[in-house]
Amino acid sequence: MLRGTATFGALKVALNCKKRMNVRAVVHRVCLIMGCYLVVENVDSLLTICSRRRKTGSGLVCVYIKYVSCCFAVQDQAGMMLLRVSLLCIAASSFHNAYSTTPRLSNEEPLKKTSATIRADEGEELDIRLPRSLRPLHYVIKLQPFINGNFSILGYVEVEMEVLEPTSNITLHMADIITKNDTVRVFSLNERAVVGIKEQHYDPERQFYIAHLEKQLEEGEKYVLSMDFLGSLGDLLHGFYKSAYKDIDGTTKRVAATMFQPTDARRAFPCFDEPALKATFEVHLARETWMTSLSNMPLAETRPVEGQEGWVWDRFERSVPMSTYLVAFVVSDFSHVKSSKDGHVQFRVWARRSVIDQAKYTASIAPKILNFYEKYFNIPFPLRKQDMIALPELSVQAMENWGLITSREDTLLHNPRVSTLANKANLVQVISHELAHNWFGNLVTPTWWEGLWLSEGFATYLGNLGMDYAEPTWKVLETLLIETLHGVMNMDSLATSRKISFPVGRPEEIKDIFDVDIVTMLPGASIIRMMSHFLGESTFRKGLTNFLGSFKYTNAEQDDLWEHLTAVAHQDGTLPRNVTVKTIMDTWTLQKGFPVIQVSRSMEGTSATISQGHILQLSPEGRNISNTHDSKWWVPLTYTCRNQANFNRTQAMVWMKDSEDSITITALPPKDQWVIFNLQETGYYRVSYDDHNWGLLIQQLRDDHEVIHVINRAQIIDDAMNLARTGHLNYTIALDVYSYLWKETAFLPWLTAMNNLHYITRMFKGKTGFGALKHYLLALTLPLYKAVGFDDNSEDPYLLKAKRRLAVEWACDLGHGHCLQQARALYRRWMLDPANESIISPDIKPTVYCHAIAEGGEAEWDFAWRRYLETDVSTETSVLLDALACTKETWILARYLEISLDPNTHMKRQDVAFVLSYIGRNEMGRHLVLNYLNEHWNKIYPYQKLMRGELLNLATRDFNTKTDLKNNPGAGHSKQFTVLYLTTEPLQYRKASEGHTRNKISRHVMMLQLLWGSPMGLKPDIVRYRLSLASSSLEETRHAETPSAGHRWNTVTVFIFTYQKH
Ligand SMILES: [Zn+2]
Repeated sequence: MLRGTATFGALKVALNCKKRMNVRAVVHRVCLIMGCYLVVENVDSLLTICSRRRKTGSGLVCVYIKYVSCCFAVQDQAGMMLLRVSLLCIAASSFHNAYSTTPRLSNEEPLKKTSATIRADEGEELDIRLPRSLRPLHYVIKLQPFINGNFSILGYVEVEMEVLEPTSNITLHMADIITKNDTVRVFSLNERAVVGIKEQHYDPERQFYIAHLEKQLEEGEKYVLSMDFLGSLGDLLHGFYKSAYKDIDGTTKRVAATMFQPTDARRAFPCFDEPALKATFEVHLARETWMTSLSNMPLAETRPVEGQEGWVWDRFERSVPMSTYLVAFVVSDFSHVKSSKDGHVQFRVWARRSVIDQAKYTASIAPKILNFYEKYFNIPFPLRKQDMIALPELSVQAMENWGLITSREDTLLHNPRVSTLANKANLVQVISHELAHNWFGNLVTPTWWEGLWLSEGFATYLGNLGMDYAEPTWKVLETLLIETLHGVMNMDSLATSRKISFPVGRPEEIKDIFDVDIVTMLPGASIIRMMSHFLGESTFRKGLTNFLGSFKYTNAEQDDLWEHLTAVAHQDGTLPRNVTVKTIMDTWTLQKGFPVIQVSRSMEGTSATISQGHILQLSPEGRNISNTHDSKWWVPLTYTCRNQANFNRTQAMVWMKDSEDSITITALPPKDQWVIFNLQETGYYRVSYDDHNWGLLIQQLRDDHEVIHVINRAQIIDDAMNLARTGHLNYTIALDVYSYLWKETAFLPWLTAMNNLHYITRMFKGKTGFGALKHYLLALTLPLYKAVGFDDNSEDPYLLKAKRRLAVEWACDLGHGHCLQQARALYRRWMLDPANESIISPDIKPTVYCHAIAEGGEAEWDFAWRRYLETDVSTETSVLLDALACTKETWILARYLEISLDPNTHMKRQDVAFVLSYIGRNEMGRHLVLNYLNEHWNKIYPYQKLMRGELLNLATRDFNTKTDLKNNPGAGHSKQFTVLYLTTEPLQYRKASEGHTRNKISRHVMMLQLLWGSPMGLKPDIVRYRLSLASSSLEETRHAETPSAGHRWNTVTVFIFTYQKH
């Protein structure tokens, strides 16, 4: 259709003139000529299509104009890039009244100017922030999405603005939107007159729409810009997007929903898309009468769409002032359950009609949690309603849009017969986190994205408090919170970890923060927890309330919070007058990592020298310690000792300043009594002691472990194992800590102990010592397995179930006969009676499914796959997808990978990345995933990019040989992708040191085996066997003193001697 026209020429020129074409720029040029603006939409999917067709050597440019599609070939001289451009350049007919005037807003605080720059291709700095001359006050947004039609959206926006500095242009964010240029109007509210537009312009790099005006806009005056536009419901799970699902009757239904954080509101409507540019919003959504629409605010009125039978307009109440990324709307035919309205907020939980009964638990628990926060902050929730909706597809687990929390189905829905305890815990944790955002994030918002850690850190920390309130028997403050802390310290000790607060500019960089959220957000939660303890809970709460009160409906930075906390802390006397919260916290947020506190007691034991250092698991140079030179922290020290054990004094007893190399603490007990630092592990640091104190702690654990607080028992295990891993503690000591475990009944120490063994087992995989290690681990786990049993009882308390899940998982993983036999038998019974949900209790399902499929063949796999296709319980589908990757048949895995990547299998887009990660975790499957990543690294869809680093991590974490490292797909890309830094550097490090570590551990495990077994009177042939294993391990490290099997005890001594010498 365009061939032979000027437009076609332009297209061809554009295609040919650049070797490495910028698709956006090309399409932009075409659109300019065609009199409309468009930022193409889904460039990534275009590129994927292009790359698929690359092989054919020629390609198509398909241009859709006025809904008529027309394809024609373009000979592309670069020979590589072929694209399919979908242009919806429609002269959208005016379908609204131009604009209406709106009253002014209350938040009149001037905006703080912050800047963010990006490096443009040519190398010059480009300011990607909107000009500060205008600020939005109020938006009217009218959208008519054709969900059941051609997926276009007829849109209209009017935005009322105040002029802060005289300007003659108006700049808005916009992406994937076509404006109808002749509908754009600018109206002066003061003069009641139209302001002429000279020229309109689109800057694709910055996603700016710019209207150049005929006259200057005057400071202090108010104007309204309005325009019609055309958008489309995308597929990439961002902006305003569509999803399909099967309804009760098997028909395909569609739902349209939004996901705007951080920079995708601009894809739904032109707007000032920065978090500090808050405004009020009046949303109008047109829908077909059999559907429902939802937005942030309650529905105000519904009236028919003129001239369109079967359509109505829903108008929602004007919102409170908020950031664009929090605006949300959903159009669906879902149903809902209401919570009982005890309070001023009406809760509704929405889901597909066939699964709506699974929404009851959320409806019952969410109001309680909201209520808790209202009391905690002493600030009421400002809206009258809170909707939560379980969407078939969402790029994140959940999103805290004000008044309309969106979530994935497997997160928000709960089926007590089928969902696991872990699912349930995740549900409460996520909704608790999202509800906490109502205060941290929604009411007070970080000024710019680098402050994101603050709202995410608080939502995570407070989310745990909300969760503890809702389900007190779960003891999340001493289970989940500590589990998270340990996980975070592990991540944060990588040389590649980042500062908690760091500058970002470009939209991709902003999204990058979310990519590595575990690194940036969770340490945030941990240092906030530390702060709440060193300030004291009451001071902390008062400070938060004052801060939120002062900045409500506006934006703030971390320094604003530190100021408010300092004021209260000085008032309450919980912080010395000459110290501010900023002084302390800057050392935690503006430098990366965390310290290790070395406690060295004097000969008499009564005093100790305390020093701080920075431990890294690895560094680019292959060294693992960055000593005291640059990184130093303000460390709140707390401690207790044997004769007056008190683990509740978590307020800082001594401050170690960032200027001090070491300090001395006196009045400690004599040397025969232990000391413990970091009570309840409230400080974000590790503690290392001298060997004598480690010995005393181990003895105490063996004699009476309950003298030590349960969190500190877990801390001792975690610190010891991680110090050993980095070479700061002898593995003999670290593994000696485990010797008390057979008496341990609490969940947290067990969980910590087992989590720390994952690394060791991975390093031993495929090595001669693995068999001996397995025996050692079984000997360790079996007492727990026997104590909790295999059979689940639905009435059992949460922590007992959690322990059983752990014990069963380990026993089966280690190949324990009874466990595997039970798993197989249960699965077989289920295969005979598939409709019976009570055969396998939910919490041991992941283990049972996985091992039955691993031990079984095609029949077991096919059965699970059928269940996946049939079940309507989303948590069950997750368990099944995971278990399907457990098969040991490589061909089945390959087939599984193929199925998951096939767009016609109806696997949810968000699930594909999970399947890849599950397959990558399987030894048999990791090469499949590595190949996939190698080939598709740059083309993985945006909604899967979040998983890219994780995928690589899972597929490579078992690497324990040099050959493995050579095949690392991340190596060539490490400069481009931050996420990858996280995984490639560990690999580099492993290259240097893990062979050594493995052998060290190997020898130690052998020794433990021998010592562990000796009191039970081992048969000589077993000893001989173990010694042969041990000696082969010794040979590996060229410690070739092969021990003789004949002299058992002598040999053990030789072993110990050999070990200690090295
Ligand atoms: Zn969050």
